[in-house]
Amino acid sequence: MILQWAPLPQARFTLERPLSFPASGRIRVLHPPPMTSIRPPVRYDGQATVADAEAKAAMGWMHTARFLTTAAQLHHLPQLELPEIAFVGRSNAGKSTCINTLAQQKQLAFASKKPGRTQHINLFSLGRQGSTDAILADLPGYGYAAVPMQDKIRWQRVMGQYLASRENLTGVVLLCDPRLGLTELDELLLELIRPRVAEEGLKFLLLLTKADKLTRLEADKALQIARLNAGGGHAMLFSALKRKGVDEAALHIRKWVEEATAENAARLAALPVEDADDAASGTEPPSAD
Ligand code: GDP
Repeated sequence: MILQWAPLPQARFTLERPLSFPASGRIRVLHPPPMTSIRPPVRYDGQATVADAEAKAAMGWMHTARFLTTAAQLHHLPQLELPEIAFVGRSNAGKSTCINTLAQQKQLAFASKKPGRTQHINLFSLGRQGSTDAILADLPGYGYAAVPMQDKIRWQRVMGQYLASRENLTGVVLLCDPRLGLTELDELLLELIRPRVAEEGLKFLLLLTKADKLTRLEADKALQIARLNAGGGHAMLFSALKRKGVDEAALHIRKWVEEATAENAARLAALPVEDADDAASGTEPPSAD
């Protein structure tokens, strides 16, 4: 599929049905621990403690990210049954920094910036102790003016095909610098995924990056507009510098993966044994070596 990059005057992103995550606010400790205590740690019954533990687990899980493979063409990507989360955004939106911050690794996504890889889809595996339970896909940044037209057209094709047809795509994280707002290319991308959000339950999260550069008032306003554009949910402020929104983004992604994994397991359980064996054989990706 070749995309047309003509302006879309009414390409506002409105989801056909509500997404399943609440537009959660910050996770707060409702019952802070005592400052000093020689007694064993007090047990807290409030939900906040559970939420803190979940955030920690989500961040620990994100830290397991490691490079899997890179591909210039869609058909070079391994076919996987594992839930895949794609990170997309225009060049300089802060995508690499966001991925590195979530993974708590300095260089992970900057692999995508190596010469020859900037127009590639780069996959990273997630999962503990050598097992893989999800994939992160870092898609090429778009909108960089200096890119030759030929490369732009090639990118359109790969990106369009990926977003429209990647079967195991579970969620899309769109990075947007709120000082620029959603550009035409962002909106075109949203138009592309909207049918999958509506019909297949594809998850979507809009991250407003570099939030540390905004005043409180600007941040509130940007978030309000973004939430409208994201169908009333799933837009968050994010700052790698101030670590704002990091835990929350990790929690979203982990929850998406958990839900998709549970759905996959239920689907496999409903299949006849031989078919289930065949389907399950696609759940472990090839090694990166
Ligand atoms: P990419 O092209 O989308 O991968 O963007 P990068 O991750 O390379 O970031 C582009 C620029 O924005 C770099 O100079 C980063 O240092 C800067 N940047 C990224 N995240 C943040 C942030 O949270 N706060 C600030 N102030 N700058 C950021």
